[in-house]
Amino acid sequence: MEETIHKGEKLYEGKAKIVYATDDPDLVIQHFKDSATAFDGKKKGTIKDKGAVNAQVSSKLFGLLEKAGIKTHFKELLNEREMLIEKLDMIPVEAIVRNVAAGSLSKRLGYEEGRALKKPIIEFYYKDDSLGDPMITHAHALELGVVSELDLDKIEILTYRINEVLRPFFAGRGLDLIDSKFEFGLKGGEVVLGDEISADTCRFWDIETRERLDKDRFRRDLGKVEEAYEEVLRRVMGEE
Ligand code: ADP
Ligand code: UDP
Repeated sequence: MEETIHKGEKLYEGKAKIVYATDDPDLVIQHFKDSATAFDGKKKGTIKDKGAVNAQVSSKLFGLLEKAGIKTHFKELLNEREMLIEKLDMIPVEAIVRNVAAGSLSKRLGYEEGRALKKPIIEFYYKDDSLGDPMITHAHALELGVVSELDLDKIEILTYRINEVLRPFFAGRGLDLIDSKFEFGLKGGEVVLGDEISADTCRFWDIETRERLDKDRFRRDLGKVEEAYEEVLRRVMGEE
């Protein structure tokens, strides 16, 4: 299949990825860049080989979710940092699921980072750079008219299920899945998981040492940033 895929025009360039057209209107190519941003783009940098690492980690995790019966946009990894995906009509709502308090939840509830939550918490954020991606309620999303009630319910159920698949997978590889962010889109009326799943979009702490192996190393200038991404790749690929 690879040989027949032709990379067409650039459709969109975001902070971490570029989306290219292909000859097939239903398929696009997602190119993973090494650039990293944090704090609404105010902090910018480069993490060497991040694009290749995240493309491989995401491909493996999408495959795992597909096996668990969750529909994703993933088709195949074309090369080190490009994946062929189904083109979705993206819903501008980010779903975050949290197992352990960290980041903005710790600030909001006054919980120390690392405090286990009684049960997973899901939050929705409106993906709009000009507003700084605010957290929104179910009612806000419906008021904005960016998603139907039925689809928002599906997003919530899917996000819980994804967390239930990923958390034990990571635990088996010595990683505690603290929180993660998912983006969904529509394809023929169906809600499908899109975007990426990586150390850019999840928090991973080593189960034993509680060392952070995710983008917080970049956000908070903790050092050993590249090493953390590589370590996540090694663990996800099962080469512990
Ligand atoms: P951002 O827009 O946040 O800067 P990225 O740099 O990650 O994000 O760019 C990737 C873009 O591609 C995002 O806007 C994302 O919503 C979009 N996207 C992800 N999966 C798909 C898909 N299957 N079809 C179309 N667009 C997608
Ligand atoms: N996240 C993301 N994209 C965003 C916002 C958050 O991938 O635009 C991820 C982030 O990496 C973390 C989780 O969602 O795994 C929760 O992030 P949080 O709300 O704590 O935000 P932060 O304090 O990191 O800005």
